[in-house]
Amino acid sequence: MAKRIPNSQDLLAQFGERMLEVLEELSSYGADPEGGVTRLLYTESWLQAQRALISKMQQLGLESAFDAVGNVFGKLSGSQIALKPVLTGSHVDTVKNGGKYDGAYGVVASMMALGYLKAAYGEPKRTLEAVSFCEEEGSRFPLAYWGSGHVTGARSLAQAAELADPAGVTLLEAMRQAGFNAAGLGEHPAKREQIGAYIELHIEQGSVLTYRHKQIGVVTAIVGQIRLTVHVTGSSNHAGTTPMTMRRDALAGAAEMVTLTEQMALEAGEPLVATVGRLEVRRGTSNVVPGDVTFTLDIRHTDEPEMRTFCVRLLTKLEEIALRRGLTIETVENLHASPVAMHEGISAAIEAACEAVSFPSMRLPSGAGHDAQLFGPICPSAMIFVPSVAGISHSPAEFTEAGDLVAGFQTLVHVLYQFGYGGEADEII
Ligand SMILES: [Zn+2]
Repeated sequence: MAKRIPNSQDLLAQFGERMLEVLEELSSYGADPEGGVTRLLYTESWLQAQRALISKMQQLGLESAFDAVGNVFGKLSGSQIALKPVLTGSHVDTVKNGGKYDGAYGVVASMMALGYLKAAYGEPKRTLEAVSFCEEEGSRFPLAYWGSGHVTGARSLAQAAELADPAGVTLLEAMRQAGFNAAGLGEHPAKREQIGAYIELHIEQGSVLTYRHKQIGVVTAIVGQIRLTVHVTGSSNHAGTTPMTMRRDALAGAAEMVTLTEQMALEAGEPLVATVGRLEVRRGTSNVVPGDVTFTLDIRHTDEPEMRTFCVRLLTKLEEIALRRGLTIETVENLHASPVAMHEGISAAIEAACEAVSFPSMRLPSGAGHDAQLFGPICPSAMIFVPSVAGISHSPAEFTEAGDLVAGFQTLVHVLYQFGYGGEADEII
């Protein structure tokens, strides 16, 4: 068990309180007049938030600076340089009119955790770094994970020249305007080598923890996703003169396909989910039999073969429906992201931490994408979830109870202590 200095529990409680205050303060950068927060990559409110974090990290005694693309790091240097650093954090950007907690909570809690560890235990053996990734959501440019993707090498500057925001500003221009001129630094100016592990604390953005009366979620895997567009073609015809038996109604066919998607997903069971989130009837008119329908399909699972198998089975059934109704279907795959498993050893250390401090915990998959999925393939990675009230996120109504925020913070502190100061979990990475 971790050694304790006198009164460190009081100190931990103080840092927990301070964490809540800083989180509230951070939400003032990009605060929307009608409620909620908007901090899009490289905009003024984003820049102010990152700068504020640098100054707060410095006040906590961390060495803090921007990297070449705008990620902010706060480093607590360790005495043994042979030990690879453990990174912990999340993202500072938000969706348009998002909440105060998505990303921001993980950033602030990480920074305060390192501040607490330094205050309570001094210099660690292993370097610990808090990180505020510049972008995760993909809300300004049509590309997500710009921050963690640079650190892990999955994103390159070449992508910045091609992508533009709705106003026509390219990612590269936006970067330069915000003061990040990475020209001449190569395609991967912010790539980090030798990362010991990555641990991310985040709100659940779902209702499972609340439903199961758990305070902490230990993420098993971040689900993979297949996103498809399905075009259904029938025959547009007069709604009055075309008998029911002589129709090739694309919308009626699509409706059957949507219902079947839900039914097959229910039969497949958790953790599979399948969603038709958008359906469009082209040239749809009230007095015309629809001939042209497009809908989206979003399929997610924590297991790649299971996800693929479900997708193939579903598409076969959709073809059967089309054939029976005299329709044709064409599918286009827009995204195929494999699931990313979280590290068993670190996950077990998180569970042990919860047990030690009596926070009820459970394992669960993450149905949403996170920065941790970029780290999973390159270093041991893990995620800690806290409950989201009513499962709401990406909304001004996003909320997590203060007690749960503090519980997540304390769990993170406990786990980071193990890795930074040579606790029981030190050997697993
Ligand atoms: Zn997030």
